[in-house]
Amino acid sequence: MRALVKTRPGPGLELVDVPSPSLGIDDVRIRVHRTGICGTDLHIRSWDPWAARTITPPLIVGHEFVGEVAEIGSNVHDLAIGDLVSGEGHVVCGRCRHCRAGRWHLCAHSIGLGVGRDGAFAEEVVLPVANVWHHWPRIDPEIAAIFDPFGNAVHTALAFPVLGEDVLVVGAGPIGLMATAVARHAGARYVVVSEPNAFRREIAARMGATVVVDPRERRLEDVQRELGMVEGFDVVLEMSGNPAALRDALANMAHGGGMAILGIPSEEVTLDLNQVIFKMLTLRGIYGREMFETWYKMSVMLQSGLDIGPAITHRFSYRDHEAAFDAASSGDSGKVIMDWRE
Ligand code: NAD
Ligand code: ZN
Repeated sequence: MRALVKTRPGPGLELVDVPSPSLGIDDVRIRVHRTGICGTDLHIRSWDPWAARTITPPLIVGHEFVGEVAEIGSNVHDLAIGDLVSGEGHVVCGRCRHCRAGRWHLCAHSIGLGVGRDGAFAEEVVLPVANVWHHWPRIDPEIAAIFDPFGNAVHTALAFPVLGEDVLVVGAGPIGLMATAVARHAGARYVVVSEPNAFRREIAARMGATVVVDPRERRLEDVQRELGMVEGFDVVLEMSGNPAALRDALANMAHGGGMAILGIPSEEVTLDLNQVIFKMLTLRGIYGREMFETWYKMSVMLQSGLDIGPAITHRFSYRDHEAAFDAASSGDSGKVIMDWRE
């Protein structure tokens, strides 16, 4: 099969022929239709320090995908050939305290698809059946391809109750864009989006932001005043990984507020704990998705009218993977999709 592979340490990815993955009794073989490019894939392509210490080539990359069931292991009974599925990219150990308690997303030993095991940027991918999400009827197949980052957005946006609250989204990358629509759908009063990139601010405005802010030009204090907010943001969704932006958000929170932190900083972050203590804030780290409550919520919200379509901006054939990756790393893009069908 064709697959996009990190063949050796160093920058780049190669489209090569590799053997089809083997299938265990609890596994599902999935014929990949479409995939989404994640920042993780960009790190692996560019071979930054994180990738160099995390990835052991050769490795098929990629973890955002949708496809159809092509083969099932002898122990799999609740899926049929042709079913439309995506996969949870964190393969958990199943044995630790949290796994045994059903809190799979807290497993400290999970292995990442396309990071610690061969991924989905290929014509076929194999996953344990426990990781497979069978899509509900009438799902848009492009949206199905990005359930993984959509799940990051939902997990973060619903970390604190947003009904009637004033929400600040810091960073309108693909995940911040989707989180903006989710916060709006879930009943927030104001959703303010802070993002330096003009292309992304424009999409954020279309996805339900009350106000979009270029943080280099407008202060959040001024935005609050214009909106008539009295104290500060009740909920912050940190999706930039930028330390200065996180500190600025902290300074603009209301007493008792909650900050859900998804953005991954590239260095250690210092912050004023006095802000956290005297405003009695809750800071919560978010990693991945809740298995499988987040997946359920995604499916339900799509059925009840949530539209994350504008977050998808580019589409390519897998053969044009270089152009697809360039579009994803340009910044002037939302989600970039690659099609793996002939
Ligand atoms: P992205 O890099 O495309 O988006 C980050 C955005 O933040 C960019 O649009 C950037 O312009 C913006 N930004 C930079 N400086 C800013 C500032 N000072 N103020 C406001 N915005 C600023 O990434 P993404 O794919 O949307 O993911 C969002 C973040 O979440 C990234 O940091 C990513 O590494 C991280 N992530 C975490 C998880 C997890 O499980 N915790 C999963 C996926 C991604
Ligand atoms: Zn575990």
